[in-house]
Amino acid sequence: MVLRKNIFPRTKGEYLSTGSNVIFTPLNYYVFNFVVLPQYWTMWSEEYTKHFIISSFLTFMMCSNMLALVLCDTTVKGRFPALNKTRKDEWKYCDKCQTSMPPRSWHCTICNTCILKRDHHCFFTSCCVGFHNHRHFMMYLFYTALTTMYASYFNFRYAYDTTDVEYTWMTLVKLLFPMLSVFFIKWSLHHLYLLVIFETFAFGLMCCFMLVWCGYFISRNMVIFDKEHSKRYRKSVMENVQVVFGRKWYLVWQGPWVSSELPCDGTHWDKYM
Ligand SMILES: [Zn+2]
Ligand SMILES: [Zn+2]
Repeated sequence: MVLRKNIFPRTKGEYLSTGSNVIFTPLNYYVFNFVVLPQYWTMWSEEYTKHFIISSFLTFMMCSNMLALVLCDTTVKGRFPALNKTRKDEWKYCDKCQTSMPPRSWHCTICNTCILKRDHHCFFTSCCVGFHNHRHFMMYLFYTALTTMYASYFNFRYAYDTTDVEYTWMTLVKLLFPMLSVFFIKWSLHHLYLLVIFETFAFGLMCCFMLVWCGYFISRNMVIFDKEHSKRYRKSVMENVQVVFGRKWYLVWQGPWVSSELPCDGTHWDKYM
């Protein structure tokens, strides 16, 4: 795996979205394990430890896939130095990067580089999703969806049990918009927990939606960035899935360190047409 050199956000939007991701991930872990769970089970009792181990495992898998996604370099730059503007086939030339790029590769204006089989730019991790890190992105989505939905089941129970007020419209505001409630209602640590609980659920919902949406694209060997043009690369679902997850696609859930060789090099797409 070639490592990316600059993994930091580049725009204000990225600082905001990636920053909130970096802050809320450990906050969610803390609130779930040390605020919500102890409400129902004694710390380190058998039941508590069971949930602690499950949530720790899911969080670990989520973070390791995110790290692999962010660290993996999937750029075109420097990979094809000998090629030039004169190529007449489907290869393109990027003036900004001064490099030739194969079909399905595109220049990302945020990363300011060309990305091999570019899918889209992810603002929550400040990196582009392309040929070499698409698998890590999908596994990150999968484990984030699982972690947040698992936590939300207990989180909502906690939010309901501990919000000791009459159920009026203002309660709804308190529950749905903990941020807004800060302006109307007295601020407390409990509101911070509610904020984390609802942020976790909202982020989890978005990941579930993304998982289904991106899964649909992968099953057809399409990319989000180039929907129309990429329709022509469609093969059987199994072959399409292997383009992203590799030949050992059934093992990638075990972690980013499991090797799964990709069936093509991201450069030659003739056999998929
Ligand atoms: Zn470029
Ligand atoms: Zn990008």
